[in-house]
Amino acid sequence: MPHPLVPLDPVEHSVVLDLVYATPHNITGKPIYARPVCLMHRDAQRCLHRAALAALDLGLRLKIFDAFRPQEAQVLLWDAAPDKVYVADPSVGSNHTRGVAVDLTLVGANGLELDMGTAFDDMTALSHHYSEKVSPEAQSNRLLLLNLMEDAGFECIPFEWWHYALPNVEQYPLVPSTHLGELNPMLPLGEPNSAK
Ligand SMILES: [Zn+2]
Repeated sequence: MPHPLVPLDPVEHSVVLDLVYATPHNITGKPIYARPVCLMHRDAQRCLHRAALAALDLGLRLKIFDAFRPQEAQVLLWDAAPDKVYVADPSVGSNHTRGVAVDLTLVGANGLELDMGTAFDDMTALSHHYSEKVSPEAQSNRLLLLNLMEDAGFECIPFEWWHYALPNVEQYPLVPSTHLGELNPMLPLGEPNSAK
């Protein structure tokens, strides 16, 4: 089935991949994705690559926590989220499921994440943009990420410093994971291609 998603490649796109939902290190405490596949809509990937190159000019790299997220995964996250303000209702659909949203941070030349004041998926008021309750350094690192992403064509949302999406998301339909064949993150390794 044709779909608009393309894999994000750490070398080709100059980013670091740390797909937390393919590991137990996420709010559900277990892997949600069966395989560590990072996909994005090709329009979003083009913008992300722009941001990655601008970060490289500063001696930094983008570290990607999640990009395309199947609807099935969104349901699991919704069920696990302590505060539903921070997770898109699966009955509406997440912009991640459109392939145009990305969760990320910045890492320095030493490979360590810059201090953003909270961990990824910290679903509290501390994760809000312009929170003055995190250190000045964290506030400035958040602004740096914000500038890189906005210059590349993304928009932020107020409650999550790590989340960015393309504008005009309505023009990008939700992508069913069953259209993705072996690129479906939910497809267990070793299973035959379930694409129809
Ligand atoms: Zn997100």
